[in-house]
Parts: sequence; C-alpha cells; structure tokens
Amino acid sequence: MPDGTPPLPNRTLKTPQALHAAGLLPAEALPGAEVVARRYSISVTPAVAALIDPADPADPIARQYIPDPAELVTAPHELADPTADAPFTPVTGVVHRYPDRALLKPLLACPVYCRFCFRREAVGPDGGLLSEAELDAALAWFARTPAVREAILTGGDPLMLSPRRLGEILRRLAALPHLDLLRIHSRVPVAAPGLVTEALAAALETGKPLYLCVHANHAREFSPAAVEALGRLHRAGVVLLGQSVLLRGVNDSVDALEGLFRSMLRARVKPYYLHQLDPAPGTARFAVPVEEGRALLRALRGRVTGLAWPTYVQERPAGGGKVPLGPEYSPNEG
Ligand SMILES: *Cc1c(COP(=O)(O)O)cnc(C)c1O
Ligand code: SF4
Repeated sequence: MPDGTPPLPNRTLKTPQALHAAGLLPAEALPGAEVVARRYSISVTPAVAALIDPADPADPIARQYIPDPAELVTAPHELADPTADAPFTPVTGVVHRYPDRALLKPLLACPVYCRFCFRREAVGPDGGLLSEAELDAALAWFARTPAVREAILTGGDPLMLSPRRLGEILRRLAALPHLDLLRIHSRVPVAAPGLVTEALAAALETGKPLYLCVHANHAREFSPAAVEALGRLHRAGVVLLGQSVLLRGVNDSVDALEGLFRSMLRARVKPYYLHQLDPAPGTARFAVPVEEGRALLRALRGRVTGLAWPTYVQERPAGGGKVPLGPEYSPNEG
C-alpha cells in the first residue's frame, strides 16, 4: 500500500497480533491486549474491520471490539453472571425466567466478541455447543412446558449454526402446538452478513412467526452488506427488531442514537430495546448513568418518528427480569 495502510483483512482476527498486523491495535497496546486475551475471547470479522477507521482513536466501532486492559479491572458492583441466568436454568441450555417465554442457547460462539458483553464469562469460540443429547433434553423441556408460548434462541449467536442445524431446531420447536412464536437474537446480520445466505433464510421458514432481534449499537454497523442481509431475511417473512446497548463512547449522544435508530428503520428493523449496560466484569468504561440515558431519550422524543423509539430497559439484579426505565412523562408538561 503506498500510504503504509495495512490491507483490509480477509479473515477473522482472533488475536492481538492479528489485530496489530491489520493496523487495528498499536504496538504499545499489544502486551495489555495479550493479557486480556488470556481471559476473554477476541473476534473481529472482515466486515467489522472494514467499518473501523484506524486513524480515529475514539472510533465507535473499534471501541466495541478491540480489547483494552481496563477489562481486567472488576469494579465492586460488577458480577460474573449479571443477569443471573444460572438459577433459572431448568436443563442445560434453557433459561426460564418469565412464565410465557424461555431462552434456548444452542451454542455460545459469536461472530464477534463484544467487550461489554453481559455473558462475557460464558461466551467463546469453543464453549457451549449443546450435544445431541443436551439438545434433545432442552427440546423435551419445551415440549413438556405448555405455559411457554415463545422460544427465544440466543447464546452465543444462533445464526452461527449451519442452516441445516438451525433449521432442524426451529422445525422441532415449531412443531410444538403450544409454541406460538419463535425468536432469534443475533449480531450476524451486521457483524458477518455473508453468513445470511439464501439457504439460511430458507431454514428460518417454519410456518410460525419468527422475530429476529438484531443487536447493533452504531449507525455505521448498517453497511450495504448488512442491509442486504436484512433484506433477505425480510423477504423470507422474518419480522426484524433491533436491540442496542447504551454505551459510553459508542452511542451516548442524541445524534448517535438518532443515527442508529434511523439506520435501523432504513434496514426495515424496528428498534425494540435500548439496554442499560449490565454490570459484567471489566465493562465500567462503557457505563452511562440511567439519568443520562433518560435525558438522551427525552431529547429524541418528538424529534424522530415514533417508530424509531425503543423501550429503555434494565435487568434487575438477581434475575428479577427486565424493567422499563422511562423516561416518564405527564400529559401536562411542556
Ligand atoms: C430478556 C429475556 C427474555 C425476553 O424478554 P422480552 O421482554 O420478551 O424481550 C426472555 N427470557 C429471559 C431470561 C430474558 O433475559
Ligand atoms: S454478540 Fe452478543 S453474546 Fe456475543 S459477545 Fe456480543 S453481546 Fe455477547
């Protein structure tokens, strides 16, 4: 390259060395990143690497994925399992906290590893793929729990499964008469849009409604390839929702949130939840106080279409479930 810029990587970057070679981690940050890498997984896909401006030390995409030594410091209020999934796990791979819906986690691998992830102590490339017997047991739990009307596939990222495997799981769930809804939470459409093939889209068709909740935190994540991937899912009859985490240095301004939600709508994605950061270990640099979050949403109200308005939610401690955080209004205020 004439200007000395490293060429864009054509494979996923999984080590500090690989990030450095791609120009995404300065040499002086290598030793710290090596220590982080011993504890937490790293993954930056070519699609994500292409979105990063290496010349910007505050790049909002890089901040989500590039390891930082601050991750090794656990603040007093931070917890290894902040949403308390463990006590609500009736069988391996299932989390049942609400009467009418339950999570199924078929694997714990993701296309990218987000530095603020609330499941960061559990997710990783070689963890948590349910064995055949575990999957059978999890599906048997859904079959014998008729109060559950909705199966929510999460992980890890369910769209990392092969279309054949994912299609089989969805068909077995859809065959249960008491299940009305299927839902998938995924970062694949924005982080690895190439995985959203016609075969994958076809595997999602079971005859029952399928909602896909795309996790994205910045407008730039809706690249042309991501928008195309989402269009393919939309054409397969999938209803697209968006979920975001309010993150310091990524989307903690009115302009950034407006840009994010408008980008979602352009990609046919309806913003569903804006999450308050869960206190996972080593994530304090991303924290935005709730009062600030409420003020940001207040500033958006009226300025953007109501379709762009997500519900601002927080997980209560000890597995109490999600609660909306407002902001609250009275009809008489100015
Ligand atoms: C977030 C969550 C759900 C889904 O909640 P919705 O409010 O329906 O989106 C279901 N189960 C568990 C355990 C959850 O954490
Ligand atoms: S994609 Fe989701 S589960 Fe995976 S690391 Fe990111 S936030 Fe965590």
